[in-house]
Amino acid sequence: MAAPNIETIVSLAKRRGFVFPSSDIYGGLGSAWDYGPLGVELCNNVKQGWWRWMVHERDDMEGLDSSIILNRQVWKYSGHEETFSDPLVDCRECKTRLRADKLEYSGAASIEEAIQGKQVKCPNCDSTDLTAPRPFNLMFRTTIGAAAEEDDPTALAYLRPETAQGIFINFHNVLTTMRRKVPFGIAQIGKSFRNEVTPGNFIFRTREFEQMEMEYFVRPGEDEPVHQEWIDYCHNWFLTLGINADNLRLYEQPKEELAHYAKRTVDIHYRFFPEREEEERQWDELMGIANRTDFDLKAHSKKPEDAEGKRLNPDSTEDLSYFDEATKERFYPYVIEPAAGVNRTVLAVLMDAYTEKTNDKGEKRVILKLHPQLAPIKAAILPLAKNKPEIVGMAKAIKRSLQPTLRAVYDDTGGIGKLYARQDEIGTPFCVTVDHQSLEDEAVTVRDRDTWEQERVKVSDLQLHLQSRLVTKL
Ligand SMILES: [Zn+2]
Repeated sequence: MAAPNIETIVSLAKRRGFVFPSSDIYGGLGSAWDYGPLGVELCNNVKQGWWRWMVHERDDMEGLDSSIILNRQVWKYSGHEETFSDPLVDCRECKTRLRADKLEYSGAASIEEAIQGKQVKCPNCDSTDLTAPRPFNLMFRTTIGAAAEEDDPTALAYLRPETAQGIFINFHNVLTTMRRKVPFGIAQIGKSFRNEVTPGNFIFRTREFEQMEMEYFVRPGEDEPVHQEWIDYCHNWFLTLGINADNLRLYEQPKEELAHYAKRTVDIHYRFFPEREEEERQWDELMGIANRTDFDLKAHSKKPEDAEGKRLNPDSTEDLSYFDEATKERFYPYVIEPAAGVNRTVLAVLMDAYTEKTNDKGEKRVILKLHPQLAPIKAAILPLAKNKPEIVGMAKAIKRSLQPTLRAVYDDTGGIGKLYARQDEIGTPFCVTVDHQSLEDEAVTVRDRDTWEQERVKVSDLQLHLQSRLVTKL
């Protein structure tokens, strides 16, 4: 099973220390969230898993960590200054700010005409007194330097709205220092910022978020089959995380939805909204895999040879084309871009892992069946009698012996049934119980989260036992 809706996860996440509403003691900050002790472990495990799969386990990949604040010219030539915006409309009556592309109208050729003809109603107060739409740029602005005036254009900078551009401007640096040949890729994980007009749905859409992006450079003409390979490769990654195949689907973006730079984009959707009646509305984007063509490398190149003479760039000092030694050809590589959000991946794995089970007393228990590699805590060490110093001492010693190799915790703050339930709810794959018998036979009970089956394991074998089961569990 999976969570019946996002609200179930919001409540679990707050109750058990995964995710808290940010700035809560000051009334919160719209759609900002803080990751708690378990949330930060889960995020780190997602990122480490992605990095291992994307970078370490491949021969054609390099990593990068570029700046969040880049030279403003990057966003000029990437097209973000001009086109990265939503059309906004203000209601003069109730002062509500509305996204023009979400307003309903009929009988007019355009939204501008419809607003002028008073054919559009404010969804908040029904007034037809609306301003004309104007573009609202989604990039967060800031200024650089101590003396900078607020409106000084030479000091203006942006928080990056995507990590991708940091990769494109380092294409030659990575290519030459690592002596790479096309095809190869550059991967990056990092925070991005978008001043969304309508964020929401918990950590699904937030103004500050973390991306896991990779740009794969290929020879033009070889881009289409490589793109398809990446779609399949990425789809498979989510399956290896244990996400139910029925809750994933591939979505081919229709031509009219494509970004201006994209030749083809396929999204991987997750069923984030299972409670919605209409099946089509249950899905939303978990990852996008785009063919960005040679748009970005050309755009950032010093005076690229563009047939129409467009996008000439007098500000760049480099030509980011590639010279193929074997064929003696020079070209701008095409780029295949798989881009996923850390936060959406966390939400999807939490929703998918959510399970309810009834115990033999007829009580409902929540079990978070997280992939063992993603589980924030791998083993909880529990003493069966907390007033018996020998048992407590042995349990704490076991915890200390495990903690250099796997995330272990010690807990004696309740009866054993309650302690088991607590670990099930946060997805801990194994509980290790130390009892009176342990003092004599140097063995402990290992309880499995998913089956609730128990087995007796020698303390001397415990670390290897847990590690091998963590690896083979899925
Ligand atoms: Zn209004």
